Amino acid sequence: MRKKDLQITGATIRIERLSKTFDEVVAVDNVSLEVEKGEFMTFLGPSGSGKTTILNMIAGFERPTGGDIYVNGRSIGYIPPFKRDIGMVFQNYALFPHMTVYENIAFPLTTRKLSKDEIRTKVQEALTLVKLQQYGDRYPKQLSGGQQQRIALARAMIFKPPVLLMDEPLGALDKKLREHMQLEIKHLHEELGFTIIYVTHDQSEALTMSDRVVVLNAGKIDQVGSPGELYDKPRNKFVADFIGETNLFEGKILNREGDIISIETNGVVRIQGLQQEEIKGERVSISLRPEKIVFLNDAEERQNIYSGTLKDIVYVGETTKFYIALEGGGEEIFLKLQNRKGVPKLSRGDTVRIGWDIDDMTIFS
Ligand code: ATP
Repeated sequence: MRKKDLQITGATIRIERLSKTFDEVVAVDNVSLEVEKGEFMTFLGPSGSGKTTILNMIAGFERPTGGDIYVNGRSIGYIPPFKRDIGMVFQNYALFPHMTVYENIAFPLTTRKLSKDEIRTKVQEALTLVKLQQYGDRYPKQLSGGQQQRIALARAMIFKPPVLLMDEPLGALDKKLREHMQLEIKHLHEELGFTIIYVTHDQSEALTMSDRVVVLNAGKIDQVGSPGELYDKPRNKFVADFIGETNLFEGKILNREGDIISIETNGVVRIQGLQQEEIKGERVSISLRPEKIVFLNDAEERQNIYSGTLKDIVYVGETTKFYIALEGGGEEIFLKLQNRKGVPKLSRGDTVRIGWDIDDMTIFS
C-alpha cells in the first residue's frame, strides 16, 4: 500500500464568537479560535468547562446560540451533521453490537453507496491502519476495550474526513493501554494528515498528543498554546495550576529595583522576582514549578535562598516529592527530584536549605 493512497487533506477550522446557552447555563461563552490544516488541537479543561459542547457544535449535534463555525472557510454551524464531512470518535466506542468488525467499519461506506469491491479495499486498508487485519469477522463484544476503540477509529477514518473529532476516546481504558493508544493516534495523525480536535480532561494526555492545547475554563478560553508554552509561560493562575504541578503564592510587591522586584508573601517570606512589563499593580501571584527548586549545601548560592523543615517525603516512582515548611512560618513549598543517583538522604524533621533563581518563577498580576 503506497502512503499517498492514505493521505488525507486536512481542513482549517475557524470558530467565531461561538456561544451556547442551556436555559440559564452559559456552557460556551463567546469562543473564537483558529485551527490550522492538519493540526492536532486539544480542548483541555475541568468537568463542565464546555469542551464537549463545543465539539458537539462542530459535529452538528448541538445548535449554537450565537456565532458560527467555518471549515475551509465554509459556514457549517447551522447545517445537519451528515453534510459536514466530519468524523467522530466517542469514549464509549458506539460500535453496533450486532454487526461484525468488518460491517461496523463498512457502515459509513454502505450508507454512501460505494461498490462492494471498493468497500472491501477500503475496509482492509482501515483494518491494516489500526493493526487489526485478522479481526474482521469478530463481533465487538469479542474484542478488548483498546481493540474496540481502534475499530471505532477505523470507522471514523474510513471516508477520510478532513476533520476528525475525538471526545475522551481513551477515557475507558486503563493507564498503560491509554498511553499506548495515545502514541498510536498521534502516529496515525502524523501519517495521514487530517485535522484533529481532541477533548480530554487529562493534562498529560493533552501535552503528549497535541500540537496546540486550548485551556477552557467556565466556557471561555484561558490560553491557547503549544504544550511547552502552556507549561513554561502560563498566562494566569488557573493555567499554571491546571497544567502540571506547581507552588502558588499570593504576594505584595514591596519594591522594584531595576530588573528585580521584591515580593512579600504571607507577611513573612521575601521573594526576589524578575520585573516584567506584564506585572502591574502591587498584588501578585507567583507560580514556582517544584522541579525548579533545589537543595543547597552551605556554600551554594541562588537568588532566593531559604531554610525550612522537611514535613513530608513522598516517593512516587520516578520522582520523590519533598514538602518543606519555610522558617519563620508562612509558606509551605514542595519540590520534586528525579529518583536517580545523588538524591539526598533526608528524613522528616530535617532542616534543609533550598533555593531557586528569579527567572524560575512565573509572576502574574
Ligand atoms: P466533562 O469533562 O464533564 O464532559 P465538559 O467540559 O465537556 O465537561 P460540557 O459537557 O460541555 O462540559 O458542559 C458545559 C456546561 O453545560 C455544564 O455546566 C453542563 O452541565 C451544561 N450542559 C451541557 N449539556 C447540557 C444540556 N443538554 N442541558 C443543560 N445543560 C447542559
